[in-house]
Amino acid sequence: MTTVQDFFDEKVRLPSPPAIALKILEAVREEENSFDDLARIVSADPSLSVRILRVANSSLYGLSQPVDSLAQATGMIGTDALKNIALSFVIVQEFQNAPQGSFNLEHFWRRAVTAAVAADMLGKAAGCKDQDLFVSGLLQDIGVLILFLSHPDGYTTVLDEKRVSGTSTFLVEKEQFACDHTEVGHYLLSSWNLPDSIAQPLHYHHSADDAAEEYQTSARVLDFADKISAMYHGLRSNEKSLAVHKGLSRHWKLSREKISELIDSVGEKSREILDVFSIDPGKIKPFSQIMQEANEELGELNFSYEQMVLELKQAKQNAEQLALELQKANNNLRELAYRDSLTGLYNHRYFQKVLETELVRAKRYNSHVSLLMVDIDFFKKVNDLYGHLVGDDVLVEVSSILVRLVRSCDVVARYGGEEFAIVLPGTGTTGAKVLAQRLRRGVEQKKVESNGQVISVTISIGLAATDMSEHDLSRVALIECSDQALYMAKHNGRNRVELAVL
Ligand code: GH3
Ligand code: MG
Ligand code: MG
Repeated sequence: MTTVQDFFDEKVRLPSPPAIALKILEAVREEENSFDDLARIVSADPSLSVRILRVANSSLYGLSQPVDSLAQATGMIGTDALKNIALSFVIVQEFQNAPQGSFNLEHFWRRAVTAAVAADMLGKAAGCKDQDLFVSGLLQDIGVLILFLSHPDGYTTVLDEKRVSGTSTFLVEKEQFACDHTEVGHYLLSSWNLPDSIAQPLHYHHSADDAAEEYQTSARVLDFADKISAMYHGLRSNEKSLAVHKGLSRHWKLSREKISELIDSVGEKSREILDVFSIDPGKIKPFSQIMQEANEELGELNFSYEQMVLELKQAKQNAEQLALELQKANNNLRELAYRDSLTGLYNHRYFQKVLETELVRAKRYNSHVSLLMVDIDFFKKVNDLYGHLVGDDVLVEVSSILVRLVRSCDVVARYGGEEFAIVLPGTGTTGAKVLAQRLRRGVEQKKVESNGQVISVTISIGLAATDMSEHDLSRVALIECSDQALYMAKHNGRNRVELAVL
């Protein structure tokens, strides 16, 4: 089995610790006069002193009065804090000129510094005594950098794999290198002789439960500090915010307000500290703004939900409209089944049905039904003289005269050929006679224009009505009677109305 040791022996050349870092660590290790030694080391690098003072004066420490010397700073924030700030600077500086390739070094340090600020602040909020949280927060992912620097291609594969699969980085690293960045980071810091208070929490920042008890809290702080940093510099801030809120309230019983406040000030303070590290803060923005944007995203989702509901409603309306149209179309079809295609009048079938129904109704309500059988006179001649198409036009014109002259409750049907049957509900012989004459005259007076010809036709009408007999007349009987009357009308000279004789 490959151990981390083998891995490093074979493949990785560890960067040597910055000389100044070693001196700083050495200085604080000695119990006596540690501050004097530290101050001497730091003062040798004027830019380092300036930076340390800027951090000491930053809102991270919230001093009531600005400090302008290392001695003053130590008095206010303590030797440990001073050491950690100094250490952070020299290590970041050491790696700032590393060959980058496809690795975004600035982004790496931006996230690291924000994680350091978050670790420091969260540690305080959680009542954690660890004084080194800033440094361990800063260096927790140093293993990533080492792995990348020693295996640029392999690590690019890891990053791609992580992006595609969404698997945690350390799992993909394990698969690729047989060890992950927490082990590499721990190995590096140990080889630099950094204290366990830094190396141990770093080692377990993805598996706090596995850490020795004294480092568990710190390891957990690092884990959440990294998540808070990712909220500012990574993707899916909303998701991470949820995890942070849940975790912080579970592990340290922090209230919602306290957590939001903490996250907000991590953003603010990080911007300040990043500036001291000369690192572009990137798109770091107040968390409230991040949340607002997330909520707007959510709003858009809600909006699209509302839109969906609206569209569904619309679809339902359309469906109802369609159903209505379908019903209409069906009615039309049904009508079509009852209509004559040339004249638009009801057809023979419908006529039979209507006559039957009206006879039943008349019997029930003790009223009468009349039937007019209509036939165009000498129609054959029209066809012979002007052609079949003109004959058709005449049929259509006669039909429309009939329809126009009857009442709306009367039913005009094409009985067949040039014959029509008209059912007159609620009408006895007298009324039917009047109407029949009106129809006859109407057709007689009409001049049909077709194909440049003006044609006049007449009609003969046979009339039968239920009030003509004391007995109930059947549909068939009524038709036969009216047919006979029509025959009489033809026989008696055409263009006339004859009553049936019962
Ligand atoms: P009468 O006065 O005795 O009724 O003489 P008529 O010529 O009208 O009677 P007949 O029954 O001898 O001829 C009817 C003609 O109607 C025969 C047929 O060609 C014509 N006809 C029937 N249906 C149609 C049609 O749909 N279109 C046309 N153009 N002619 C039709
Ligand atoms: Mg005829
Ligand atoms: Mg005929």
